[in-house]
Amino acid sequence: MKSVVTIVQEGLRALHNAASLGGAAAALLCATITVPASAQEADLVVIHAKVATLDGGSRIEEALAVRRGHITAIGNDAAIQALIGSRTQVVDAGRRTVIPGLIDSHMHAVRAGLSYSVEVNWIDARTIAEAMSRLRTAAHRSRPGAWLVIAGGWTEQQFEERRRPTLQEVLTAVPEQPVWIQLFYSGLLLTPKARESLGIAADALPPKMTAQLDAQGNPTGWLESEITGLSSLFDRLPKPTPQDNVAGTRQFFAELNRLGITGVVDPGGFSLYPSQYRALQQLWREHALTVRVAFSLFAQNADSELADFKNMTQLLPMGFGDDMLKFNGIGERVTLAMYNNDAPDATTQEKFYEVLQWAARQGMAVTIHWVDGKSLPVLLDIYERLNREVAITDLRWSIAHLDDVSAQSLARMKSLGIGWTMQDSMYFAGDRVRAARGDAVLHMPPLMTAVRAGVVVGAGTDAHRVATYNPFIALQWMLDGKTIGGNATRGSDETPSRELALRFYTLNSAWFSFDDDKRGSLAVGKLADFAILDQDYFTAPVEQIGRTVSLMTVVGGKVVYAAAPFVAPR
Ligand SMILES: [Zn+2]
Repeated sequence: MKSVVTIVQEGLRALHNAASLGGAAAALLCATITVPASAQEADLVVIHAKVATLDGGSRIEEALAVRRGHITAIGNDAAIQALIGSRTQVVDAGRRTVIPGLIDSHMHAVRAGLSYSVEVNWIDARTIAEAMSRLRTAAHRSRPGAWLVIAGGWTEQQFEERRRPTLQEVLTAVPEQPVWIQLFYSGLLLTPKARESLGIAADALPPKMTAQLDAQGNPTGWLESEITGLSSLFDRLPKPTPQDNVAGTRQFFAELNRLGITGVVDPGGFSLYPSQYRALQQLWREHALTVRVAFSLFAQNADSELADFKNMTQLLPMGFGDDMLKFNGIGERVTLAMYNNDAPDATTQEKFYEVLQWAARQGMAVTIHWVDGKSLPVLLDIYERLNREVAITDLRWSIAHLDDVSAQSLARMKSLGIGWTMQDSMYFAGDRVRAARGDAVLHMPPLMTAVRAGVVVGAGTDAHRVATYNPFIALQWMLDGKTIGGNATRGSDETPSRELALRFYTLNSAWFSFDDDKRGSLAVGKLADFAILDQDYFTAPVEQIGRTVSLMTVVGGKVVYAAAPFVAPR
Protein backbone atom coordinates (compact mmCIF):
# COMPACT_ATOMS: atom_id res chain seq x y z
CA MET A 1 0.00 0.00 0.00
CA LYS A 2 2.85 2.30 0.82
CA SER A 3 4.13 2.01 -2.71
CA VAL A 4 0.84 3.17 -4.18
CA VAL A 5 0.81 6.17 -1.90
CA THR A 6 4.34 6.99 -3.05
CA ILE A 7 3.36 6.81 -6.69
CA VAL A 8 0.33 8.98 -6.13
CA GLN A 9 2.42 11.57 -4.35
CA GLU A 10 5.09 11.46 -7.02
CA GLY A 11 2.44 11.59 -9.67
CA LEU A 12 0.65 14.54 -8.17
CA ARG A 13 3.88 16.43 -7.66
CA ALA A 14 4.89 15.80 -11.26
CA LEU A 15 1.39 16.68 -12.39
CA HIS A 16 1.71 19.94 -10.56
CA ASN A 17 5.19 20.54 -11.99
CA ALA A 18 4.02 19.61 -15.45
CA ALA A 19 0.96 21.83 -15.37
CA SER A 20 2.25 23.91 -18.26
CA LEU A 21 3.56 20.99 -20.30
CA GLY A 22 0.38 19.96 -22.09
CA GLY A 23 -1.95 17.04 -21.77
CA ALA A 24 0.00 13.88 -22.60
CA ALA A 25 1.90 13.54 -19.34
CA ALA A 26 -1.10 14.55 -17.30
CA ALA A 27 -3.40 12.05 -19.02
CA LEU A 28 -0.95 9.24 -18.43
CA LEU A 29 -0.59 10.15 -14.78
CA CYS A 30 -4.32 10.02 -14.24
CA ALA A 31 -4.40 6.56 -15.77
CA THR A 32 -1.55 5.46 -13.53
CA ILE A 33 -3.24 6.70 -10.41
CA THR A 34 -6.58 5.02 -11.04
CA VAL A 35 -5.42 1.47 -11.88
CA PRO A 36 -5.27 -1.08 -9.06
CA ALA A 37 -2.04 -1.76 -7.19
CA SER A 38 -1.54 -5.21 -8.73
CA ALA A 39 -1.26 -3.64 -12.16
CA GLN A 40 1.49 -1.28 -10.97
CA GLU A 41 4.16 -3.94 -11.26
CA ALA A 42 7.01 -2.35 -13.17
CA ASP A 43 8.50 -3.74 -16.39
CA LEU A 44 11.92 -2.39 -15.42
CA VAL A 45 13.33 -0.78 -12.32
CA VAL A 46 16.72 0.80 -11.76
CA ILE A 47 17.73 0.86 -8.11
CA HIS A 48 20.83 1.88 -6.12
CA ALA A 49 21.49 4.69 -8.55
CA LYS A 50 22.21 8.39 -8.54
CA VAL A 51 19.43 9.54 -10.82
CA ALA A 52 19.90 13.07 -12.13
CA THR A 53 16.30 13.86 -13.01
CA LEU A 54 16.99 17.31 -14.52
CA ASP A 55 13.44 18.20 -13.60
CA GLY A 56 12.69 21.71 -12.42
CA GLY A 57 14.09 21.12 -8.97
CA SER A 58 17.38 19.48 -10.03
CA ARG A 59 16.50 16.48 -7.93
CA ILE A 60 18.83 13.54 -7.41
CA GLU A 61 16.93 10.33 -6.65
CA GLU A 62 17.93 6.73 -5.95
CA ALA A 63 15.70 4.76 -8.27
CA LEU A 64 13.10 4.80 -11.00
CA ALA A 65 10.45 2.46 -12.37
CA VAL A 66 9.32 1.97 -15.96
CA ARG A 67 6.11 0.55 -17.32
CA ARG A 68 5.01 0.40 -20.95
CA GLY A 69 7.87 2.60 -22.08
CA HIS A 70 7.24 5.41 -19.64
CA ILE A 71 8.58 6.37 -16.25
CA THR A 72 5.95 5.55 -13.66
CA ALA A 73 7.79 6.38 -10.46
CA ILE A 74 10.97 8.04 -9.28
CA GLY A 75 12.02 8.02 -5.67
CA ASN A 76 14.00 6.23 -3.02
CA ASP A 77 15.06 2.62 -3.28
CA ALA A 78 12.40 1.35 -0.89
CA ALA A 79 9.55 2.96 -2.80
CA ILE A 80 10.73 1.65 -6.15
CA GLN A 81 11.60 -1.82 -4.87
CA ALA A 82 7.99 -2.12 -3.79
CA LEU A 83 7.05 -2.06 -7.48
CA ILE A 84 9.10 -5.14 -8.33
CA GLY A 85 6.93 -8.03 -9.43
CA SER A 86 7.61 -11.46 -10.87
CA ARG A 87 8.13 -10.12 -14.39
CA THR A 88 10.12 -7.02 -13.48
CA GLN A 89 13.62 -6.61 -14.85
CA VAL A 90 15.70 -5.28 -11.97
CA VAL A 91 18.86 -3.29 -12.66
CA ASP A 92 21.12 -2.63 -9.70
CA ALA A 93 23.07 0.42 -10.84
CA GLY A 94 25.74 0.01 -8.18
CA ARG A 95 25.47 3.70 -7.19
CA ARG A 96 26.28 4.82 -10.70
CA THR A 97 24.91 7.99 -12.23
CA VAL A 98 21.82 7.86 -14.42
CA ILE A 99 21.12 10.74 -16.78
CA PRO A 100 18.29 11.42 -19.22
CA GLY A 101 19.16 10.10 -22.68
CA LEU A 102 21.28 12.61 -24.58
CA ILE A 103 19.80 14.35 -27.61
CA ASP A 104 22.00 15.88 -30.30
CA SER A 105 20.05 18.83 -31.69
CA HIS A 106 22.03 19.02 -34.94
CA MET A 107 23.50 15.78 -36.18
CA HIS A 108 23.55 14.48 -39.75
CA ALA A 109 22.78 11.04 -38.40
CA VAL A 110 20.62 9.75 -41.24
CA ARG A 111 23.41 10.42 -43.72
CA ALA A 112 26.05 9.00 -41.39
CA GLY A 113 24.11 5.77 -41.06
CA LEU A 114 23.95 5.16 -44.80
CA SER A 115 27.69 4.64 -45.12
CA TYR A 116 28.74 3.82 -41.55
CA SER A 117 29.14 0.09 -42.25
CA VAL A 118 31.47 0.70 -45.19
CA GLU A 119 33.54 3.64 -43.90
CA VAL A 120 36.61 3.72 -41.71
CA ASN A 121 36.55 6.22 -38.88
CA TRP A 122 39.36 7.89 -36.97
CA ILE A 123 37.25 9.09 -34.08
CA ASP A 124 39.40 9.28 -30.95
CA ALA A 125 42.54 7.90 -32.70
CA ARG A 126 45.44 9.58 -30.89
CA THR A 127 48.35 8.99 -33.26
CA ILE A 128 48.88 8.73 -37.00
CA ALA A 129 50.11 5.18 -36.41
CA GLU A 130 46.75 4.29 -34.86
CA ALA A 131 44.92 5.94 -37.76
CA MET A 132 47.02 3.97 -40.27
CA SER A 133 46.42 0.77 -38.36
CA ARG A 134 42.65 1.32 -38.59
CA LEU A 135 43.05 1.74 -42.36
CA ARG A 136 45.11 -1.45 -42.57
CA THR A 137 42.57 -3.41 -40.53
CA ALA A 138 39.74 -2.17 -42.75
CA ALA A 139 41.75 -3.11 -45.85
CA HIS A 140 42.23 -6.67 -44.56
CA ARG A 141 38.51 -6.98 -43.89
CA SER A 142 37.39 -5.59 -47.25
CA ARG A 143 37.39 -7.30 -50.62
CA PRO A 144 40.35 -6.64 -52.94
CA GLY A 145 40.18 -3.29 -54.69
CA ALA A 146 37.35 -1.96 -52.48
CA TRP A 147 37.30 1.72 -51.56
CA LEU A 148 38.40 2.78 -48.09
CA VAL A 149 36.68 6.02 -47.14
CA ILE A 150 37.36 8.31 -44.20
CA ALA A 151 34.72 10.96 -44.64
CA GLY A 152 35.70 13.45 -41.94
CA GLY A 153 35.19 13.46 -38.19
CA TRP A 154 38.91 13.91 -37.42
CA THR A 155 41.51 16.67 -37.28
CA GLU A 156 45.31 17.01 -37.21
CA GLN A 157 45.06 18.26 -33.64
CA GLN A 158 43.88 14.92 -32.29
CA PHE A 159 47.14 13.26 -33.31
CA GLU A 160 50.23 13.58 -31.14
CA GLU A 161 52.06 14.50 -34.34
CA ARG A 162 49.71 17.49 -34.85
CA ARG A 163 49.67 17.01 -38.62
CA ARG A 164 47.83 15.21 -41.38
CA PRO A 165 49.11 11.82 -42.54
CA THR A 166 51.17 12.01 -45.71
CA LEU A 167 50.33 10.27 -48.95
CA GLN A 168 53.38 8.06 -48.41
CA GLU A 169 52.16 6.95 -44.98
CA VAL A 170 48.77 6.07 -46.42
CA LEU A 171 50.33 4.18 -49.32
CA THR A 172 52.57 2.27 -46.94
CA ALA A 173 49.50 1.20 -44.95
CA VAL A 174 47.26 0.49 -47.94
CA PRO A 175 49.23 0.22 -51.18
CA GLU A 176 46.66 -1.49 -53.36
CA GLN A 177 43.26 0.05 -52.69
CA PRO A 178 41.58 3.33 -53.58
CA VAL A 179 41.55 5.53 -50.46
CA TRP A 180 39.57 8.74 -49.84
CA ILE A 181 40.61 10.74 -46.76
CA GLN A 182 38.58 13.86 -46.12
CA LEU A 183 39.46 16.56 -43.59
CA PHE A 184 36.29 18.52 -42.73
CA TYR A 185 35.13 19.98 -46.04
CA SER A 186 38.48 21.61 -46.67
CA GLY A 187 41.03 18.88 -47.42
CA LEU A 188 41.12 15.68 -49.43
CA LEU A 189 43.76 13.02 -50.00
CA LEU A 190 43.31 10.55 -52.86
CA THR A 191 45.66 7.65 -53.46
CA PRO A 192 46.75 6.92 -57.08
CA LYS A 193 44.28 4.02 -57.16
CA ALA A 194 41.53 6.41 -56.05
CA ARG A 195 42.39 8.90 -58.81
CA GLU A 196 42.43 6.09 -61.32
CA SER A 197 39.04 4.87 -60.19
CA LEU A 198 37.54 8.38 -60.41
CA GLY A 199 39.18 9.01 -63.78
CA ILE A 200 41.32 11.89 -62.51
CA ALA A 201 44.77 12.02 -64.10
CA ALA A 202 47.77 12.08 -61.73
CA ASP A 203 48.53 15.73 -62.52
CA ALA A 204 44.91 16.93 -62.85
CA LEU A 205 42.80 18.70 -60.25
CA PRO A 206 39.15 17.86 -59.60
CA PRO A 207 36.72 20.79 -60.02
CA LYS A 208 36.87 23.45 -57.28
CA MET A 209 40.07 22.01 -55.79
CA THR A 210 43.65 23.19 -55.63
CA ALA A 211 46.85 21.39 -54.71
CA GLN A 212 48.21 22.01 -51.23
CA LEU A 213 51.84 23.13 -51.41
CA ASP A 214 54.55 22.73 -48.81
CA ALA A 215 56.94 25.51 -47.73
CA GLN A 216 59.12 24.83 -50.77
CA GLY A 217 56.17 25.10 -53.13
CA ASN A 218 55.94 21.38 -53.84
CA PRO A 219 52.55 19.59 -53.86
CA THR A 220 52.00 17.61 -50.66
CA GLY A 221 49.50 15.24 -52.24
CA TRP A 222 46.62 16.86 -50.34
CA LEU A 223 43.93 18.80 -52.19
CA GLU A 224 42.36 21.96 -50.81
CA SER A 225 38.63 22.18 -51.36
CA GLU A 226 35.31 23.49 -50.08
CA ILE A 227 31.97 21.90 -49.42
CA THR A 228 30.38 21.87 -52.87
CA GLY A 229 33.47 20.58 -54.72
CA LEU A 230 34.02 17.89 -52.13
CA SER A 231 30.38 16.85 -51.97
CA SER A 232 30.00 16.49 -55.73
CA LEU A 233 33.18 14.41 -55.98
CA PHE A 234 32.04 12.32 -53.02
CA ASP A 235 28.81 11.59 -54.89
CA ARG A 236 30.89 9.79 -57.54
CA LEU A 237 32.19 7.19 -55.10
CA PRO A 238 30.56 3.77 -55.38
CA LYS A 239 27.35 3.89 -53.39
CA PRO A 240 26.76 1.59 -50.44
CA THR A 241 24.07 -0.95 -51.22
CA PRO A 242 20.62 -0.80 -49.60
CA GLN A 243 21.79 -3.62 -47.28
CA ASP A 244 24.85 -1.52 -46.38
CA ASN A 245 22.51 1.41 -45.63
CA VAL A 246 20.41 -0.63 -43.23
CA ALA A 247 23.38 -2.28 -41.54
CA GLY A 248 25.18 1.06 -41.28
CA THR A 249 22.18 2.84 -39.76
CA ARG A 250 21.76 0.06 -37.23
CA GLN A 251 25.48 0.10 -36.36
CA PHE A 252 25.71 3.87 -36.17
CA PHE A 253 22.71 4.13 -33.87
CA ALA A 254 24.20 1.40 -31.66
CA GLU A 255 27.40 3.45 -31.53
CA LEU A 256 25.36 6.50 -30.47
CA ASN A 257 23.64 4.39 -27.80
CA ARG A 258 27.08 3.41 -26.49
CA LEU A 259 27.59 7.09 -25.80
CA GLY A 260 24.23 7.58 -24.08
CA ILE A 261 22.46 9.15 -27.06
CA THR A 262 18.77 8.33 -27.39
CA GLY A 263 17.66 11.05 -29.79
CA VAL A 264 18.82 13.25 -32.65
CA VAL A 265 17.40 16.22 -34.48
CA ASP A 266 18.59 15.65 -38.02
CA PRO A 267 18.98 18.52 -40.52
CA GLY A 268 19.31 16.41 -43.69
CA GLY A 269 22.36 17.20 -45.78
CA PHE A 270 23.97 17.47 -49.17
CA SER A 271 22.66 14.91 -51.66
CA LEU A 272 20.34 13.36 -49.11
CA TYR A 273 17.25 12.70 -51.20
CA PRO A 274 13.94 11.21 -50.01
CA SER A 275 14.88 7.74 -51.28
CA GLN A 276 17.81 7.74 -48.88
CA TYR A 277 15.48 7.67 -45.88
CA ARG A 278 14.47 4.10 -46.74
CA ALA A 279 16.95 2.41 -44.41
CA LEU A 280 15.69 4.55 -41.56
CA GLN A 281 12.09 3.81 -42.50
CA GLN A 282 12.80 0.08 -42.72
CA LEU A 283 14.26 0.01 -39.21
CA TRP A 284 11.32 2.08 -37.97
CA ARG A 285 8.87 -0.37 -39.50
CA GLU A 286 10.71 -3.29 -37.89
CA HIS A 287 10.64 -1.50 -34.50
CA ALA A 288 14.43 -1.68 -34.66
CA LEU A 289 15.30 2.02 -34.30
CA THR A 290 17.33 2.61 -31.14
CA VAL A 291 17.63 6.38 -31.52
CA ARG A 292 14.64 8.69 -31.85
CA VAL A 293 14.92 10.77 -35.02
CA ALA A 294 13.23 14.09 -35.77
CA PHE A 295 14.25 15.03 -39.30
CA SER A 296 13.96 18.10 -41.48
CA LEU A 297 14.18 18.34 -45.26
CA PHE A 298 17.26 19.96 -46.80
CA ALA A 299 16.81 21.79 -50.13
CA GLN A 300 18.59 19.92 -52.92
CA ASN A 301 17.79 21.72 -56.18
CA ALA A 302 18.45 25.34 -57.06
CA ASP A 303 15.38 27.32 -58.18
CA SER A 304 12.83 24.63 -57.34
CA GLU A 305 13.11 24.70 -53.58
CA LEU A 306 9.56 25.84 -52.86
CA ALA A 307 8.03 23.46 -55.41
CA ASP A 308 10.15 20.60 -54.02
CA PHE A 309 9.16 21.30 -50.42
CA LYS A 310 5.47 21.54 -51.35
CA ASN A 311 5.70 18.29 -53.24
CA MET A 312 7.61 16.39 -50.59
CA THR A 313 5.31 17.48 -47.77
CA GLN A 314 1.94 16.80 -49.32
CA LEU A 315 1.58 13.77 -47.05
CA LEU A 316 4.00 15.03 -44.44
CA PRO A 317 2.50 17.67 -42.17
CA MET A 318 4.64 19.16 -39.43
CA GLY A 319 5.19 16.62 -36.64
CA PHE A 320 3.91 13.67 -38.69
CA GLY A 321 5.23 10.36 -37.38
CA ASP A 322 5.60 8.92 -33.91
CA ASP A 323 7.94 9.10 -30.94
CA MET A 324 10.65 7.16 -32.83
CA LEU A 325 10.59 8.90 -36.19
CA LYS A 326 8.92 12.12 -37.13
CA PHE A 327 8.97 15.01 -39.54
CA ASN A 328 10.30 18.23 -38.10
CA GLY A 329 10.04 20.83 -40.86
CA ILE A 330 12.58 22.19 -43.33
CA GLY A 331 16.25 23.20 -43.35
CA GLU A 332 19.12 23.53 -42.60
CA ARG A 333 19.36 24.58 -46.25
CA VAL A 334 16.16 26.30 -47.33
CA THR A 335 17.35 27.77 -50.61
CA LEU A 336 20.68 27.08 -52.25
CA ALA A 337 21.32 30.76 -52.96
CA MET A 338 21.00 31.73 -49.28
CA TYR A 339 23.27 28.95 -48.03
CA ASN A 340 26.54 30.37 -46.66
CA ASN A 341 25.60 33.66 -48.31
CA ASP A 342 26.41 36.55 -45.99
CA ALA A 343 25.41 39.25 -48.47
CA PRO A 344 22.38 37.99 -50.41
CA ASP A 345 20.94 40.28 -53.07
CA ALA A 346 17.27 41.33 -53.10
CA THR A 347 16.15 38.53 -55.44
CA THR A 348 17.86 35.87 -53.33
CA GLN A 349 16.23 37.24 -50.19
CA GLU A 350 12.82 37.38 -51.83
CA LYS A 351 12.92 33.74 -52.97
CA PHE A 352 14.04 32.72 -49.51
CA TYR A 353 11.22 34.77 -48.00
CA GLU A 354 8.64 32.97 -50.15
CA VAL A 355 9.73 29.58 -48.82
CA LEU A 356 9.72 30.83 -45.22
CA GLN A 357 6.30 32.39 -45.66
CA TRP A 358 4.93 29.10 -46.98
CA ALA A 359 6.56 27.14 -44.13
CA ALA A 360 5.18 29.53 -41.52
CA ARG A 361 1.68 29.18 -42.95
CA GLN A 362 2.01 25.39 -42.73
CA GLY A 363 3.04 25.71 -39.08
CA MET A 364 6.39 24.14 -39.91
CA ALA A 365 9.62 24.41 -38.02
CA VAL A 366 12.52 25.87 -40.00
CA THR A 367 16.16 25.41 -39.11
CA ILE A 368 18.83 27.49 -40.82
CA HIS A 369 22.54 27.00 -41.25
CA TRP A 370 24.25 30.31 -40.44
CA VAL A 371 27.90 30.54 -39.53
CA ASP A 372 28.88 34.20 -39.40
CA GLY A 373 27.40 36.15 -36.51
CA LYS A 374 28.29 39.48 -38.12
CA SER A 375 25.97 38.87 -41.06
CA LEU A 376 23.18 37.37 -38.97
CA PRO A 377 21.17 40.66 -38.92
CA VAL A 378 20.46 40.04 -42.62
CA LEU A 379 18.60 36.87 -41.65
CA LEU A 380 16.94 38.40 -38.60
CA ASP A 381 15.62 41.31 -40.68
CA ILE A 382 13.91 38.78 -42.95
CA TYR A 383 12.46 36.90 -39.97
CA GLU A 384 11.15 40.07 -38.36
CA ARG A 385 9.48 41.12 -41.58
CA LEU A 386 7.90 37.67 -41.89
CA ASN A 387 6.77 37.65 -38.27
CA ARG A 388 4.78 40.84 -38.89
CA GLU A 389 2.91 38.96 -41.61
CA VAL A 390 2.71 35.39 -40.19
CA ALA A 391 3.56 34.77 -36.55
CA ILE A 392 6.56 32.46 -36.19
CA THR A 393 7.15 32.90 -32.48
CA ASP A 394 5.55 29.56 -31.51
CA LEU A 395 6.98 27.50 -34.35
CA ARG A 396 10.34 26.76 -32.65
CA TRP A 397 12.47 27.92 -35.53
CA SER A 398 16.17 27.55 -35.01
CA ILE A 399 19.56 28.69 -36.20
CA ALA A 400 22.52 26.31 -36.24
CA HIS A 401 26.22 27.11 -35.69
CA LEU A 402 26.67 30.87 -34.94
CA ASP A 403 29.82 30.63 -32.84
CA ASP A 404 30.19 34.41 -32.63
CA VAL A 405 26.57 35.55 -32.33
CA SER A 406 26.20 38.90 -30.57
CA ALA A 407 24.06 39.73 -27.53
CA GLN A 408 21.94 42.04 -29.72
CA SER A 409 21.21 39.25 -32.20
CA LEU A 410 20.43 36.85 -29.36
CA ALA A 411 17.89 39.34 -28.01
CA ARG A 412 16.26 39.53 -31.44
CA MET A 413 16.21 35.70 -31.65
CA LYS A 414 14.55 35.55 -28.25
CA SER A 415 11.77 37.91 -29.26
CA LEU A 416 11.14 35.84 -32.40
CA GLY A 417 11.01 32.62 -30.35
CA ILE A 418 14.02 31.28 -32.25
CA GLY A 419 16.30 28.76 -30.56
CA TRP A 420 19.97 28.13 -31.12
CA THR A 421 21.39 24.71 -31.92
CA MET A 422 24.96 25.10 -30.77
CA GLN A 423 27.80 22.69 -31.56
CA ASP A 424 31.35 22.09 -30.43
CA SER A 425 32.97 23.17 -33.68
CA MET A 426 35.36 25.36 -31.66
CA TYR A 427 36.72 22.19 -30.07
CA PHE A 428 38.29 21.45 -33.45
CA ALA A 429 38.62 24.93 -34.91
CA GLY A 430 39.42 26.97 -31.79
CA ASP A 431 43.19 27.14 -32.28
CA ARG A 432 42.81 28.29 -35.88
CA VAL A 433 40.13 30.83 -34.92
CA ARG A 434 42.24 32.20 -32.07
CA ALA A 435 45.17 32.72 -34.45
CA ALA A 436 42.87 34.70 -36.75
CA ARG A 437 40.65 36.53 -34.27
CA GLY A 438 42.53 36.69 -30.97
CA ASP A 439 40.49 37.33 -27.85
CA ALA A 440 37.20 37.04 -29.71
CA VAL A 441 37.43 33.33 -28.90
CA LEU A 442 36.77 34.14 -25.23
CA HIS A 443 33.11 34.53 -26.21
CA MET A 444 32.90 31.78 -28.80
CA PRO A 445 30.35 30.53 -28.55
CA PRO A 446 28.61 32.87 -26.08
CA LEU A 447 26.79 30.15 -24.17
CA MET A 448 25.92 32.09 -21.05
CA THR A 449 25.09 35.29 -22.92
CA ALA A 450 22.51 33.24 -24.81
CA VAL A 451 21.12 31.79 -21.59
CA ARG A 452 20.85 35.28 -20.08
CA ALA A 453 19.07 36.46 -23.24
CA GLY A 454 16.52 33.68 -22.67
CA VAL A 455 17.31 31.87 -25.92
CA VAL A 456 16.82 28.08 -25.84
CA VAL A 457 20.27 26.57 -26.38
CA GLY A 458 20.41 23.01 -27.70
CA ALA A 459 23.67 21.08 -27.76
CA GLY A 460 25.14 18.89 -30.44
CA THR A 461 28.02 18.18 -32.74
CA ASP A 462 27.17 18.60 -36.46
CA ALA A 463 28.69 15.10 -36.91
CA HIS A 464 29.89 13.15 -38.65
CA ARG A 465 31.74 14.83 -41.54
CA VAL A 466 32.98 17.84 -39.60
CA ALA A 467 33.09 16.55 -36.05
CA THR A 468 33.03 13.55 -33.78
CA TYR A 469 29.54 12.61 -32.68
CA ASN A 470 30.76 11.97 -29.12
CA PRO A 471 28.50 13.97 -26.78
CA PHE A 472 30.90 13.66 -23.86
CA ILE A 473 33.66 15.36 -25.86
CA ALA A 474 31.19 18.18 -26.50
CA LEU A 475 30.17 18.30 -22.81
CA GLN A 476 33.80 18.44 -21.69
CA TRP A 477 34.45 21.25 -24.16
CA MET A 478 31.41 23.16 -22.89
CA LEU A 479 32.86 22.98 -19.38
CA ASP A 480 36.53 23.79 -20.05
CA GLY A 481 36.49 25.58 -23.41
CA LYS A 482 39.61 23.69 -24.42
CA THR A 483 40.35 22.73 -28.00
CA ILE A 484 41.35 19.26 -29.07
CA GLY A 485 44.93 20.53 -28.86
CA GLY A 486 44.38 21.25 -25.15
CA ASN A 487 44.38 25.04 -25.42
CA ALA A 488 41.83 27.10 -23.51
CA THR A 489 39.71 29.44 -25.61
CA ARG A 490 36.28 30.31 -24.19
CA GLY A 491 36.31 32.41 -21.01
CA SER A 492 34.84 31.41 -17.67
CA ASP A 493 31.98 33.92 -18.00
CA GLU A 494 30.70 31.88 -20.95
CA THR A 495 31.04 28.55 -19.14
CA PRO A 496 27.90 26.75 -18.00
CA SER A 497 27.62 24.59 -14.90
CA ARG A 498 27.75 20.83 -15.40
CA GLU A 499 24.04 20.58 -14.86
CA LEU A 500 23.26 23.36 -17.33
CA ALA A 501 25.50 21.83 -20.01
CA LEU A 502 23.63 18.56 -19.53
CA ARG A 503 20.31 20.39 -19.82
CA PHE A 504 21.46 21.80 -23.18
CA TYR A 505 22.05 18.19 -24.29
CA THR A 506 18.74 16.81 -23.03
CA LEU A 507 15.67 18.90 -22.26
CA ASN A 508 16.73 21.89 -24.38
CA SER A 509 17.59 19.73 -27.38
CA ALA A 510 14.18 18.05 -27.04
CA TRP A 511 12.57 21.49 -27.37
CA PHE A 512 13.63 21.72 -31.02
CA SER A 513 11.32 18.87 -32.02
CA PHE A 514 8.50 19.82 -29.61
CA ASP A 515 9.44 16.85 -27.41
CA ASP A 516 10.40 18.55 -24.15
CA ASP A 517 7.08 17.49 -22.63
CA LYS A 518 7.84 13.84 -23.47
CA ARG A 519 11.56 13.41 -22.91
CA GLY A 520 14.78 15.21 -22.00
CA SER A 521 14.28 14.88 -18.26
CA LEU A 522 13.37 12.00 -15.96
CA ALA A 523 9.90 12.55 -14.58
CA VAL A 524 6.79 10.49 -14.06
CA GLY A 525 4.87 10.24 -17.33
CA LYS A 526 7.86 10.88 -19.56
CA LEU A 527 9.36 8.38 -21.96
CA ALA A 528 11.88 6.10 -20.27
CA ASP A 529 15.01 7.23 -22.13
CA PHE A 530 18.12 7.21 -19.98
CA ALA A 531 21.73 6.09 -19.66
CA ILE A 532 23.72 4.60 -16.78
CA LEU A 533 27.22 6.08 -17.03
CA ASP A 534 30.57 4.45 -16.28
CA GLN A 535 31.70 7.45 -14.25
CA ASP A 536 29.93 10.25 -12.41
CA TYR A 537 29.57 13.14 -14.86
CA PHE A 538 28.94 15.50 -11.94
CA THR A 539 32.16 14.76 -10.02
CA ALA A 540 34.67 13.33 -12.53
CA PRO A 541 37.64 15.60 -13.29
CA VAL A 542 36.58 17.83 -16.21
CA GLU A 543 39.44 16.64 -18.39
CA GLN A 544 38.13 13.08 -18.12
CA ILE A 545 34.50 13.78 -18.99
CA GLY A 546 35.23 13.22 -22.68
CA ARG A 547 36.04 9.58 -21.93
CA THR A 548 32.66 8.83 -20.39
CA VAL A 549 30.61 6.04 -21.94
CA SER A 550 27.24 4.54 -21.17
CA LEU A 551 27.08 1.11 -19.59
CA MET A 552 23.39 0.77 -20.23
CA THR A 553 21.20 2.82 -22.53
CA VAL A 554 17.43 2.56 -22.42
CA VAL A 555 15.02 3.94 -25.03
CA GLY A 556 11.31 3.77 -24.29
CA GLY A 557 11.93 1.33 -21.46
CA LYS A 558 13.88 -1.05 -23.70
CA VAL A 559 17.56 -1.77 -23.09
CA VAL A 560 19.17 -0.91 -26.44
CA TYR A 561 22.78 -1.08 -25.30
CA ALA A 562 24.55 -2.72 -22.39
CA ALA A 563 28.17 -3.29 -21.41
CA ALA A 564 29.68 -5.08 -18.42
CA PRO A 565 28.62 -5.37 -15.67
CA PHE A 566 25.20 -5.05 -17.29
CA VAL A 567 23.70 -7.34 -19.88
CA ALA A 568 20.92 -6.66 -22.33
CA PRO A 569 17.96 -9.01 -21.90
CA ARG A 570 17.06 -11.18 -24.87
ZN1 LIG B 1 25.09 23.47 -41.04
